[in-house]
Amino acid sequence: MYELKVIDHFSAAHQLRRFHGECENLHGHNWKVEVCVASYSLDEKGMVLDFRVVKKHTKEVLSRLDHKFLNELTMFRDQNPSAENIARYIAEELGARLDTPERWVTSVTAWESETACVTYVRKSEK
Ligand SMILES: [Zn+2]
Repeated sequence: MYELKVIDHFSAAHQLRRFHGECENLHGHNWKVEVCVASYSLDEKGMVLDFRVVKKHTKEVLSRLDHKFLNELTMFRDQNPSAENIARYIAEELGARLDTPERWVTSVTAWESETACVTYVRKSEK
C-alpha cells in the first residue's frame, strides 16, 4: 500500500468544556495537521494523487477553522473542540472530498504542540 502525507497548519482558540485543568480556560494553539491518503494502486502518472490536490482541499477545510474560536463553530457546538474531535472532523471532511474506490483518506493527525498530538484513523472501505 502507498500512503502519501501532506502537512498544513492553522491557528485557533478553544476552551475545553468539562475539562479540569488549564485547557478549561480560553487559549490558542498553532495546530499542525498531517493528512494521509492511501492507495493499493497508482494512477497513470505513477501517483496515489497529486499533492497539490490534497493540499488545496486541506487548505480549504482548515480555512474554516483558522483564526476562529472553535467552540462557536457549528461542528463543535455539541462536542468539545479537542484535538481528537478536530482530527476526526478534518478526516471526515477530506474523506468526503478525496475518497474514491481506489484511494481514501486514512488518517489525520492534529498536533496541538510540539510534543502532543492525536491521530484519527478512518476505517478503510476495502
Ligand atoms: Zn488547548
